[in-house]
Parts: sequence; structure tokens; C-alpha cells
Amino acid sequence: MRAFVVTGPGAYGLTEVPEPEAGPGEVLVAPAAVGICGSDLELLDGRRPADYVRYPVVPGHEWSGRVVACGAGVRGLTPGQAVVAEGVRSDGTCARCREGRGNLCTGPYAETGFTHQGALAERLAVPAALVHPLPEDRPLEAAALLEPAGCVASGLLELGVPPAGSRVAVVGDGPLGLLAVLLVRLSSPRELILVGRHPERTARATACGATAILSDGSPEVAALRGAVDLVIEATNAPTGAVTAVGLARRGGSVLLLGISGAGRPAVDPDLVTLGQLRVQGAFAASPAAWRWMVSLYGAGLFTPDGLVTHRFTLADTKAALAVLADRSSSGALKVLITP
Ligand SMILES: [Zn+2]
Repeated sequence: MRAFVVTGPGAYGLTEVPEPEAGPGEVLVAPAAVGICGSDLELLDGRRPADYVRYPVVPGHEWSGRVVACGAGVRGLTPGQAVVAEGVRSDGTCARCREGRGNLCTGPYAETGFTHQGALAERLAVPAALVHPLPEDRPLEAAALLEPAGCVASGLLELGVPPAGSRVAVVGDGPLGLLAVLLVRLSSPRELILVGRHPERTARATACGATAILSDGSPEVAALRGAVDLVIEATNAPTGAVTAVGLARRGGSVLLLGISGAGRPAVDPDLVTLGQLRVQGAFAASPAAWRWMVSLYGAGLFTPDGLVTHRFTLADTKAALAVLADRSSSGALKVLITP
């Protein structure tokens, strides 16, 4: 089969590789759509922390597809079925897995697309225990966005979904920030404020449910300091967390999703103490977050289709990565590859 293989930092391309087989407890999947994101670029360039990647690897951790074959012992899944699958390959037995946080599994780090073959290929084998079937009456393509949305959902489940009537702000107007807006709107916030740096995304942000779009660093954002019930940070800038903590009201909550890798922002710990803030991080998506997102998607309540700006074939993966790397001129939000 054809696969996009990264043999090491800076060395990658489309190659012929042996097709994987569905071993016991595994299913073989044909990926239908694969989202690429900043962490894929880090993997290509060798900027991802060494503990969170194993070369050579086929990237592709945001995907949807169809079952091709089931290995021995697999029940409840059939060839042709539309599916997504959890990315973190948890062992299912450790203390974190038993408490429902398989995304924090204490076993050796293993994640589809980072340590195990990902979806930028014609076929992919995944553990059946991580697979979530999708209803047939929903579009398969946009289900590739359930993985990044699941990271937002996972943090919200840890913090508690904001009560209806809350004032919520999302810092960061990239795909993750817009997915956060789409998800939070379902909890009927009184205000849903998007703080960003891209005025050209205003129409899209409004369509996602933002009630106000403010420019990062503006007087309007300064006026909101200490006045927001829940702040979700979804930037790849080290200053995003500083902005987010500053906006939260006393007793409010902050959810940190961005991993900038660029530096250590000076979050003032006194703001957290004096404001009695709840600051919550989120790494990948928990099993409960996956179930929630698949349920919302299946019910037609979560429709991220509008965030897809570019589509490429597997043969054009390099062109897709170039569009993603140069968002400012390409205008890219979510870039999909359709193997
Ligand atoms: Zn575990």
C-alpha cells in the first residue's frame, strides 16, 4: 500500500510499504479523511518532544474511516462500518485507565500517528477496544475533526461543562479555538467571546456561535480582565495562557489546551491564588470525551464541516503540509487529506 512515511526529522515522502494486518483484537481500517495539524509539522521537523514520537512513523492522528477487516476475537464491528478511534493506545489496566483517564495511561506512551502507524496511508490497524462506530446517516469526512474536538471535550468534562447563561471566552482563533466555540455553544452561554488575531476569520467564528470577536491585545479584551466565568486557551503562543488566566473572574475556571513549546510564559501564581481560580490542563481526549463527541456528532448537534478549508489526495500530502505551514497566505483552517 502507499503510505506517507517520516523516517526522521526532515526526511519524509510517499512510499510503498506492506499493508498492515488486523491482528487479534484489532481492526483494519481504510481512512476516509485525515486532518493534519501543528503537531504533525513538529513531527516532520523533529520539534516534537523526543518522548512523544518514535521514528520511522506514518503521521495521521485525526481521522475517520471504514472498517475493512476484523481480527480474531473482535465483536460488534463489521466491514464497511464508518468509524473513528481513540488515538492514545492505553493499556486498559493501569490506575489511570481504571479511573477512566486512558489518555493519561501510565504505560509506555503510545499514540496512533506518533509512535504507531497513523492514517496517512491506504490502510491502518487499530485496537478494536478504541474504535467508536459512527451512524451511517452522518457525513464521514468531518468526523476526522472529532479527535481535536475531543481534546476540548476532555478538558470540559474534567472542569464541568459551564452552566447555561455563563460568560465564556476562547483565546485563539485557529481550528482548535473554533472547535471549542462550536462545542461550548451547545451549553447555551450568555456570551461566547472569541479572542483572536485573524479578522478574516470573523464570519466563520460567528457561524460557529461566537457572540463577540475581539482582537488580542485590544482595549476591549483588557476591559474583560477578571470578568469571565470560563476561559479556554487554544493558542500555540506562550502568551495565550497569560491572557487566559488574566480574563478569568474570581472563582472562575481556565482550561489550557495549547502546547507552544516556545517558552515559559510568566503566569502570575498570585492571580490563581487571589482569584481562587481552577486551572485545568488537558492532554489528548479521555474515553468519556470520545463517547460524548461521537454522540453529539451522531445526533447532528456538532457539525464542524465548515472549518474544512482545503482537501488533498494522499499523493499531494506534501502540498497539504505546505498549505498548513503557511496559513497566513493560504488562509487554511482545517486541512484534510483523503487517502
Ligand atoms: Zn493505562
